Amino acid sequence: MRLSHRVNSIKPSSTLEVTARINALKAQGVDVIGFGAGEPDFDTPENIKQAAINALLAGKTRYTAVPGEVNARAAIARKLRDDNGINCNAEDIVITVGGKHAIYLALQCLLDPPAHGRPAQQVILPTPAWVSYEPMIVLAGGEVVQVPGAIENDFKITPEQLEQAITPHTAAIIINSPSNPCGTMYSPDDLRALAAVVEQHPHVTIITDEIYERLIYGDAEHLSLGSIDSIAPRVITINGLSKAYAMTGWRVGYACAPGDGGSVARAMSKLQGQMTSNITSFCYAAIEEALTNGEDSLQQMRKAFSMRADLIYDRVAAMPDIVCPRPTGAFYVFPDISAYFGRNSPGGAMIDSAVDFATALLDEANVAVVPGEDFGQCARDHVRLSFACSEQHIEEGCRRIDRWLRAFR
Ligand code: PLP
Repeated sequence: MRLSHRVNSIKPSSTLEVTARINALKAQGVDVIGFGAGEPDFDTPENIKQAAINALLAGKTRYTAVPGEVNARAAIARKLRDDNGINCNAEDIVITVGGKHAIYLALQCLLDPPAHGRPAQQVILPTPAWVSYEPMIVLAGGEVVQVPGAIENDFKITPEQLEQAITPHTAAIIINSPSNPCGTMYSPDDLRALAAVVEQHPHVTIITDEIYERLIYGDAEHLSLGSIDSIAPRVITINGLSKAYAMTGWRVGYACAPGDGGSVARAMSKLQGQMTSNITSFCYAAIEEALTNGEDSLQQMRKAFSMRADLIYDRVAAMPDIVCPRPTGAFYVFPDISAYFGRNSPGGAMIDSAVDFATALLDEANVAVVPGEDFGQCARDHVRLSFACSEQHIEEGCRRIDRWLRAFR
């Protein structure tokens, strides 16, 4: 059967592929250490589960309003006002099937494919960037403009780089802080400086993916771009429950788009109404519970991630010829492994790319990492390790990698 150019033009998610490969090896009984997972290893807190169970038993089993039940939207708007300083109300919120679909909807609502002599609309993507942004931009007919962040600057782009990348065809920029895959984040001052650039270009919308905002470590501080008054009407804030509350399987995300009289939120809701309708009906109660009574559990998980961040950073930074910024948010480290390119692995494989490196590491040392290629051109020298796993797992996995690297020829 003929498949559309649209679907043929995108690649499957490499992070989900690595996870599938790890699971297949484990099923064969291989003692594999997986650093691939992009999800917390914790279980969803009991009170949040119970809220959904109660809602289910109470008969919350029917279609709901497309952008979500009003109480859950109000709880999200309250959280965004109180915690993030975003001036918004329940009607500015669209609850979506994961943060992923919120980004997809936003891009579909902002972009048109090039047609009738009209050039492509560009989306500025600071890289390394999460693997799904590029395919989602392409599916919406947009053109991806990669702007590389330097490792010496914790992978952040500078205001000068942003200024240079903006053209009359720029429709949007995607900012993701804390970052997947980098594990680093922009400081409030960095973000204010980027906002000052965007302020000068009124045709540019900011999509800010803040899905990891609650998982930050040390003295790192998060600022929501949607709280900066001068650009707030042009900011679409993306967030969700997946990462902060260990709820990846629930598929609960949201977008907040208070600008332009609510036109973007209404457009996203209209599109969702023709796609997924609403999220699972008994999850709304879980949203309210997570946002009102989830803080203690969140802090326990955050503390565990914080200790793991220190541990994995210490181990990885001590590996021979590896350069790695310290993780300050999310649950990833993204070391530069290019010193091993052009060399033979202990098992005799010639390593010329991050994919070669990750493949040989898995084959020879039973450790799974995600190769950098799909995170952007500037990410080809890197692999991603997730530390959403136990400390023993981190110790053992890093011990294996270290031993494997020291046996390179
Ligand atoms: N944004 C980033 C940067 C992510 O890493 C992820 C998940 O891996 C998402 C968004 C989407 O999360 P979800 O769809 O589970 O809410």
